[in-house]
Amino acid sequence: MSYDYAVIGAGVSGITCALTLARSGYKVALVERAPRTAPLLRGFSRHGVHFDTGFHYTGGLGPGEPLELFLRYLGVADRIESFSFDEKGFDLFRCDDPAFEFGFPVGFANLREQLLGSFPGERQAIDQYLDQVGAACRAMPYLNLDAELSQESLLQRVIGPSLREVLDRLTGNELLKSLLSVHSLLYGVSSREVPFALHAAIAGSYYQSVRGIRGGGLSLARAFDARLAELGVQVLCSREATAIELGTGGAVTGVRLADGELIPCSTAIATVHPQLLLDLVPEGAFRPVYRKRLASLEETVSAVLCFATCDAPLPALSGSNRFYVPDAGAVNELGGRPVGQGALYLSAAYRNGDPVPAGFIGICPALFSDAAAWQSRRGERPSGYAGYKEEALERLTAQITRAYPELSGRISSIEASTPLTVRDYCATPLGGLYGVKHMVGQYNPQPATRVPGLFLSGQAVASPGVMGAVLSGLVTCGTLLGHDRIRKELKECC
Ligand SMILES: Cc1cc2nc3c(=O)[nH]c(=O)nc-3n(C[C@H](O)[C@H](O)[C@H](O)COP(=O)(O)OP(=O)(O)OC[C@H]3O[C@@H](n4cnc5c(N)ncnc54)[C@H](O)[C@@H]3O)c2cc1C
Repeated sequence: MSYDYAVIGAGVSGITCALTLARSGYKVALVERAPRTAPLLRGFSRHGVHFDTGFHYTGGLGPGEPLELFLRYLGVADRIESFSFDEKGFDLFRCDDPAFEFGFPVGFANLREQLLGSFPGERQAIDQYLDQVGAACRAMPYLNLDAELSQESLLQRVIGPSLREVLDRLTGNELLKSLLSVHSLLYGVSSREVPFALHAAIAGSYYQSVRGIRGGGLSLARAFDARLAELGVQVLCSREATAIELGTGGAVTGVRLADGELIPCSTAIATVHPQLLLDLVPEGAFRPVYRKRLASLEETVSAVLCFATCDAPLPALSGSNRFYVPDAGAVNELGGRPVGQGALYLSAAYRNGDPVPAGFIGICPALFSDAAAWQSRRGERPSGYAGYKEEALERLTAQITRAYPELSGRISSIEASTPLTVRDYCATPLGGLYGVKHMVGQYNPQPATRVPGLFLSGQAVASPGVMGAVLSGLVTCGTLLGHDRIRKELKECC
């Protein structure tokens, strides 16, 4: 059978592309190398506790907000149940030096009040920062369906200044800057590198409202599956794409799979990491300068993660994450410090159906180079790796129980994953948590390529996060079908 579109990668962005095109009546094949769709969202279970991996919480999912609207457009909003995180403190920030705690409340006005309470002498900086975040969010086409749409406005995420530059202009208070930069852990780029506009789009959506999904990312993955089936998308899992085939005129003719089968199509959409795309297209298909651009894209920070079950419920973690930094400078050094000495993020894990957390996930930014000595194929790590992993886990556990003594003695099981696990699990060449860095001055891959019939989508194109991945799918489909058309259809769902 021949398809109008073959989408490579059934992550959130690939599924968004497949659903958007299928709801417009096109014949779509969705190819995924993992055994199930949306592998990042599905998480895993240990001792009866489910650990979310690629989704813990999101902004923009409140009624009428952008992500909720996008999911309604895709036909999955009614298949999931979202819930509000703690409105008084969805993220609790703690710094040891200087000793400081701050709960991020939901809502720009509440955040402003809370910030003024902690930093009474910084009224002007706080007002200007929040105004600029709000303005940047409103200027984003798609996040704001009435915002002006142009190549520049779609691209403004990589145009400077950086978050750090904006904060430096507003204040000299390092603690305040550290606090306002802490959400860099959600996109894996330090405040010195991240474009303010990208930070604003992500952090701003969290300031507006913060929600989780009952049953976690797995519920969203199941909702996507149901909708893909309903719209007749041909889903091919455990099928790795190995080549994008081009005809004599250089246009896409199909996607070749590892088992040799060809999926004939006139258009292919690749949602894989842009560097992996280079292995899929014939050597001469891209101009050397474009190949070089993709090959040299820097990656977001990697991490050592831990997954702990506890012998008693942890109500304090319910709907409230923890961000810990030993000192105000740690936020700016993502991965720059040894495991156990840098910034730390904790999020709740739940026993099936239980509303009170029974465990937690800890994420500590780390460099891929820390683990590079043990590079190997998954499941075949060389000797010495186990010792490295054990030591990393010990350091991380010690830091967590030092920072949060209330967790000390409560942990009944704990396992770790390293940057090598992240590399294999997230399909990022250097274990980047969120794929390619969106960084001031770095090329931002665009949906259209010079190869007729080959388009890109995914977190590298728009921004990381479930909302960023959905957005990237919509922007790619907008490039294919017309942005005005997609935005009109979205508006009809308002
Ligand atoms: C630890 C962690 C925590 C996170 N927490 C949150 C959170 O709380 N909230 C939030 O909004 N976001 C979170 N994210 C980010 C979010 O999960 C991602 O940004 C998003 O899922 C990326 O979607 P994507 O479609 O762009 O990429 P991917 O999900 O990576 O999709 C690409 C797909 O392509 C497949 N693939 C690769 N090569 C091939 C091939 N050759 N053939 C076929 N298939 C192939 C891969 O298996 C993958 O499924 C988190 C991410 C991580 C790693």
